[in-house]
Amino acid sequence: MSKKSRPPKSRPPHRTVFAPETGEAPLYWECPECGYITGDPQFMDGSHPCPFCGKVDGERRSYPTDRIRRLDSRIRQYNRDGDHEIVVILVMALLEAVLEDILDRIMDAHGADLPLRRMVMDTQRAIGTRIGKIFPSLTGEEFEEAAAELGYRDFPYRWREMREARNAFIHDSPFNGVKEALQPSMGHDAMELLDQSYTLFVLMNNRFVADGFSKD
Ligand SMILES: [Zn+2]
Repeated sequence: MSKKSRPPKSRPPHRTVFAPETGEAPLYWECPECGYITGDPQFMDGSHPCPFCGKVDGERRSYPTDRIRRLDSRIRQYNRDGDHEIVVILVMALLEAVLEDILDRIMDAHGADLPLRRMVMDTQRAIGTRIGKIFPSLTGEEFEEAAAELGYRDFPYRWREMREARNAFIHDSPFNGVKEALQPSMGHDAMELLDQSYTLFVLMNNRFVADGFSKD
């Protein structure tokens, strides 16, 4: 099987357990062996085997990273304060960090070492390139297609719309006319995208990183 071919249909179905909603960044645990991620709290104690690779011991790392969690908690505070423009801008920054994380993990699963991964991320900074070129070249699927298969068909479209609104807002200038301010409802939409991004990227991780189909 080539690296770009689709995983066989006989692979086990996803058994991803989502973390409960707590009003904060969700807490997931990651298998250090295969990268599988679950919100099942039993998984963190190190006595339950990984559903993917069966490994029992090893310290489970928490996911998302502390850096993301700190940004998440600030976003939620701005949201409580009703500062929807800051919410939109920071959610877009967080989603880009989460995307960079998943691309890095998929490249790692392909065997790319750190200098190579760093070079790719440093030279391919545009989000459109990361979604439109890097993701499909690593997974053999368009980002939109993968999101739809995992139950998040609207996510890529809504994310793109919000990026465009954010860009129009940030790059507003006296030379290109008056741009509408970001609407308060966009803060609400951004918070929905934020919550969805965690579950979508955990699903993508378990599909494109943990199942290891890209390694053969
Ligand atoms: Zn595992």
